[in-house]
Amino acid sequence: MSELNPYEVAVRRLEEAGRLLSISSDVIRILKHPRRVIMVSLPVRMDDGRIEVFKGYIVLHNSWRGPYKGGIRYHPQVNLDEIKALAMWMTWKCAVVDIPYGGAKSGIECNPKAMSKSEIEKLTRRFTATIIDDIGPFKYVPAPDVYTDEQVMAWIMDTYSTIKGYSVPEVVTGKPLSLGGSPGRGEATGFGVAICIREAAKILDLDLTRLTVAIQGFGNVGFNAAVSLAEMGAKIVAVSDSQAGIYSPEGIEPKKLYEFKAKTGSVKGFPGSREIGRDEVLTVECDVLIPAALENQITSKNAGEVKAKIVGEGANGPTTPEADAILNRNGVLVIPDILANAGGVTVSYFEWVQNLTRERWAEEEVKAKLEQKMVKSFYEVYNAAKKHNVSMRTAAMMVAVGRVTDAFEKAGLFP
Ligand code: NAD
Repeated sequence: MSELNPYEVAVRRLEEAGRLLSISSDVIRILKHPRRVIMVSLPVRMDDGRIEVFKGYIVLHNSWRGPYKGGIRYHPQVNLDEIKALAMWMTWKCAVVDIPYGGAKSGIECNPKAMSKSEIEKLTRRFTATIIDDIGPFKYVPAPDVYTDEQVMAWIMDTYSTIKGYSVPEVVTGKPLSLGGSPGRGEATGFGVAICIREAAKILDLDLTRLTVAIQGFGNVGFNAAVSLAEMGAKIVAVSDSQAGIYSPEGIEPKKLYEFKAKTGSVKGFPGSREIGRDEVLTVECDVLIPAALENQITSKNAGEVKAKIVGEGANGPTTPEADAILNRNGVLVIPDILANAGGVTVSYFEWVQNLTRERWAEEEVKAKLEQKMVKSFYEVYNAAKKHNVSMRTAAMMVAVGRVTDAFEKAGLFP
């Protein structure tokens, strides 16, 4: 399946869940296709005076359970099949943690690293104005994704509010705190990954304080997962970033490593650690592995070498279907991405609720609600896995596709 494009892989996973749940092929045929695909061209005057025309895609996959939800990606390799797959994935992710959203994703083909801040702002505002009737608090609520951040969300909110004539913070999540962002959003995904790993250790009867952890990628997700797991008593022994891998059997203090990386630009050379190959982090001696960088990292080539007993997928799609089969055969407990990294979208939902109700919750309240949601979702998936004798990944898909289908069956088909 890994030879297929990401959309084909997503469809195969849907078909498998549909078969196991005996869902009618009519419903699966509806779910295979996004509800709407919008392609836009975005002319932007660049700093040197010329006009560049960017391509943008908006894929609205499904809204049976609530408004469309999903990030906006700015990347040179954005393509429609990737955005279609990610939009479908969002439908399942929101359903698996039972938040009342559907799934969507957007992307603009651009290289933000080669653009000035003012060019990115103009592109973002032009994009927002172009899709002004397709987004909205009860239509499609975007959020940050690869190379978009809270500043981009602030520009989207401001453009939308300016055109509508009143302040609409609930049109987008992942905003700065001063514009209605939620406390705890930054740490949410990594914290959610750590909660899932804590629960996985419990069901495997492992003592978390004796477990060693290897983390691929030391950005938002990897760093925050490391901090939470270290606070829970686990020992971080290996970390990698795009430049290098480091290993220290005595343990790596995540906050110190963060400061070191902030100064030097990489984890490479962190005092007290020895350098290992960047990809060796995936196969190093450890109990828990967290891929938190890119997709397709655990493949048929290295899956057999994975030593960890638990893999918590911080990244989206880090394990290829072939590798997944190998890990399952070897008895590795894989906590799938749509469950493990759903903490981010869950706190996005909390942000939207706070905006709609014009309330502000304290960080402790957000964290407590997130923890409750992650634990409940974890056991719903785990119990489904036991009941149907399938992997956690298949079980997560079954829970999600079951919930989405149930919503359709209750609502019926118009007309
Ligand atoms: P980020 O940009 O903050 O961090 C990515 C990290 O990966 C960086 O440290 C980078 O150096 C490292 N990296 C890149 N290539 C690598 C390689 N080949 N080997 C090792 N490390 C490498 O990104 P992030 O927000 O932490 O997201 C990471 C993953 O998690 C992505 O797949 C993203 O889609 C997914 N995710 C993120 C969130 C979120 O809330 N941030 C939510 C759900 C899923």
